[in-house]
Amino acid sequence: TPFTLALYNPNLRKLFDRARAVRTIGVLLLVPFVSGLVFHQTHHSLRFLWLPLLMLVVVEVGMLGAVISVVEILIIGTLFTLHGDGPLWLEKGATMQGTVLLLQFSILVLLISVVPFAAILERERQLRARLRLGMKRYQLLADNSRDIVVLANLEGHRLYVSPAVRDVLGWTQEEWTDQNSTELMHGEDVAEFRRMLKEMLHGEGHRTFRYRTLHKNGQYLWMEANVRTLTGETTGEPNALVANVRDISERVDSEKKLAEAHRHVQEQAQRDSLTQLANRRCFDEALEREWRRGRRTGNPLALLMVDVDHFKRINDSYGHRAGDQCLQALAAILRDVARRPSDLKARYGGEEFAVLLPDVDKDSAVMMAEILCMKVRDQLFNAGVGGPLALTVSVGVAAQVPNKDTRADQLVEAADRALYAAKQAGRDRVMPAYEEEVPVASLHPVQ
Ligand code: GH3
Ligand code: MG
Ligand code: MG
Repeated sequence: TPFTLALYNPNLRKLFDRARAVRTIGVLLLVPFVSGLVFHQTHHSLRFLWLPLLMLVVVEVGMLGAVISVVEILIIGTLFTLHGDGPLWLEKGATMQGTVLLLQFSILVLLISVVPFAAILERERQLRARLRLGMKRYQLLADNSRDIVVLANLEGHRLYVSPAVRDVLGWTQEEWTDQNSTELMHGEDVAEFRRMLKEMLHGEGHRTFRYRTLHKNGQYLWMEANVRTLTGETTGEPNALVANVRDISERVDSEKKLAEAHRHVQEQAQRDSLTQLANRRCFDEALEREWRRGRRTGNPLALLMVDVDHFKRINDSYGHRAGDQCLQALAAILRDVARRPSDLKARYGGEEFAVLLPDVDKDSAVMMAEILCMKVRDQLFNAGVGGPLALTVSVGVAAQVPNKDTRADQLVEAADRALYAAKQAGRDRVMPAYEEEVPVASLHPVQ
């Protein structure tokens, strides 16, 4: 039965293909030769030679070869035995019937001992072939991936790097393998990388990590690594890391540009384009914010309303462009007078400016307004009209400690009224608002 099955086995042909034919035929010829040696004489029992012979057959030609060899031994053994030769006749008083039975029994034992051994060997051979095929497939996948595929141990030491590293980063596989992942990493990203490794060791199976790494040309590129832990089959504990690494420099670049554009737009939305001071909207927001803050802290908030005197005349005499240049020069003076980071200089409208001064009381605000008036008065404005121009401003000043009974726009109204009074009184001057500050005591009424 095994012989018939062997004859119909599709793998039989493979034993005789060009690469293996010589070995197969050689081994299969060795079997009748040794069998002849064993059976043609009746002096020595050389049957022990079968076992190493069949082992050789199994290793070299496999299960099919072993089955064929057993049949070879059977035929040669039968021919010699029936002729009265062979070691089976060594027994005293051996009969034909007993000897033939012994031969059959010997062949059966041979078959039983060889077949399982051959089967195990065959299975191992198949497993190895399958493993080789699988490895070849994965190798192909890794080799042809545009991402760099990296296998590393838990300390981040690289064990395998796919060839894509050459296209992406200019380094060869050999240069990148067998070194720590932090080696070419930007110094500022190393701490974050180590933190990630630690977290992954404690059970986080998957992480995405952005970092900079050195291209062979000396430039840093932004990379994104998708990192996974591999767990040991028996222990279930993480034992290696596998990462797909790709170049995201272009993406990071456009993200940066977008963020910059966003910031610019936001800034422009808060700024007056002619003077680069805060615009009206920004002023309104700051006023509300500072008002609330003043209510919390109990500190005063002061406001200067500044209007250029007879500005229409400048426009009428020298044109709008000259007027614009004067406004820009005036903005520079405002910046110079109110210098604290918390001071807000805004173009309130036309040629009217507002200066919001947190934590400044009325007296100090009046003093600052006086300095402003003086600086404007003392400066000759170069408006590109062939000669310097003289300008003056009028300033209305109001200050209050914000409280829950007053509103922010009351401060603006007070400063506006004071400005109007300054104009009425002859311009080029500072006028404090008439309203008194809310007494601090009233903020803390006696219970
Ligand atoms: P006064 O304030 O002393 O009463 O006289 P004024 O001539 O300055 O009067 P008012 O404040 O009412 O005039 C505002 C003028 O400012 C009107 C307009 O011609 C001019 N103006 C407003 N905005 C701009 C601007 O952006 N550029 C220029 N060049 N002129 C402006
Ligand atoms: Mg004016
Ligand atoms: Mg005005």
